[in-house]
Amino acid sequence: MTSARKNLFERPSRTKIVATLGPASNSNEMLQKLLFAGVDVFRINAAHGTQKDFELTVRNIRNASQKTGMPVAILMDLGGPKIRLGKLPNDELKLETDGTVAFISSKFQAKAETCPELAGIPCVTCSYEPLVNELRSGDRIVLADGSVELRVSEVAGKKDQWAKCAILCGGKVRSRQGVNLPGVKLTIPAMLDADRSNAAWAAQNGIDFLGLSFVRNAMEINDLKNLIAENGGTSKVIAKIEKPEALDALDEIILAADAVMVARGDLGVETDIARMTILQKEIIQICGQYRRPVIVATQMLESMTHHNLPTRAEVSDVANAILDGADAVMLSGESAVGEFPEETVRMMHRIALNTEDAVNPDDFRFIPLLTPFNQVLEALAQNVCDLAEQLDAKFIVTVTETGDSAMCLSANRCPARILAFTSSDETLRKMCLDWGVVPFKFPKSIKSNQSVMKFALDTLRSEELISSGDRIILFAEASDNSSQNAIVVYEC
Ligand code: PGA
Repeated sequence: MTSARKNLFERPSRTKIVATLGPASNSNEMLQKLLFAGVDVFRINAAHGTQKDFELTVRNIRNASQKTGMPVAILMDLGGPKIRLGKLPNDELKLETDGTVAFISSKFQAKAETCPELAGIPCVTCSYEPLVNELRSGDRIVLADGSVELRVSEVAGKKDQWAKCAILCGGKVRSRQGVNLPGVKLTIPAMLDADRSNAAWAAQNGIDFLGLSFVRNAMEINDLKNLIAENGGTSKVIAKIEKPEALDALDEIILAADAVMVARGDLGVETDIARMTILQKEIIQICGQYRRPVIVATQMLESMTHHNLPTRAEVSDVANAILDGADAVMLSGESAVGEFPEETVRMMHRIALNTEDAVNPDDFRFIPLLTPFNQVLEALAQNVCDLAEQLDAKFIVTVTETGDSAMCLSANRCPARILAFTSSDETLRKMCLDWGVVPFKFPKSIKSNQSVMKFALDTLRSEELISSGDRIILFAEASDNSSQNAIVVYEC
């Protein structure tokens, strides 16, 4: 084992790190560096790039994983119904506070110049054509990540024409910047044609997680799950919580999804930014109650996009997300287009290591579950964690085909590291998102739980991860009717 890999396996951060890829990070060399620095999940943002680009990135990720021997999952975020401004003259427009601006449909663009109602008013188009028909007087519109705020003042009597807006808070906007409509219910589908095509591609190409942006209800999650199944895939669905409608239907969405992302970028625009911290805590807590892994995303180490050190507030932000109970913390622009992708991942890893010892397992172990995930596994996992604590065990080794026992152990926030052995490549990668779980592979030819346990101990010995005097708790989940759950205490 290389010393870098050994260091990471001996002292991996239990909090998982998701790093968004982009020009700063998708080369073969940088992917390997980022794995050694502590990345567990690489994120491809499908809003940027083509399927040909994704194919190359996926190939590079798999090569890097093979070369380093480090398992890594791939998350592809579908762009979803993000509405963007159309092309602006000179790509820029200054909107003056107390002035007026009009959204027009592209069909009406040619007529807008001579329309008497729009005389002297700057006009903009957007990527969602029916918008002008769905807006009502009084609706709030936010542009450019919240920096410009509008209120609809008048809509045209005729279809496909215009909607005038009062500029409550002005500023500069650029072509293709985001248009958010907090609280406005639009008929735009959760997945546009491009999203459906990317989701089908992801399912066919073994992508581990698919992020669904701007989710509003459980039906939208189930629709994506059906699409994945129709394409023969097993990708897990991550619900990105970023709309007020999602907050209203939080329980059903979390229950329908396989994992959740607190997508603070858009959530901070769609809701009052001042509520962010409390919303983050509430979402994480409910995820714990349904046993769904949760990622906290956006601007975690933002200043490291251009500096080699984070601000004090950013360090606190990452640490507090971990103390709240986040399974994973995410980097966006910092790793995609930043000047210091490797240093940023290292910093996140260091913050995690320095915070995790302060996580109190009792805060998580006894959270009342809203649905028993798997009553038998839950009870066993709690007992295994108690045993590990009583006996000061170095590792809990779990044998799992589904990843379920690893997930239950992870949810207990046990101080012992969880080494999860599986023969399934999919489960191996899925477990990259579970807090405190280090995934390992065993060959499919090994059948009995006992033989897997022996293989696990041999692996730990050969990788020099255990030494004389160490205690290990082995926990094998019954994967079929012919095997039984087993718990063994092993003293090296
Ligand atoms: P995005 O999602 O990076 O696709 O915007 C995350 C967020 O909104 O925070």
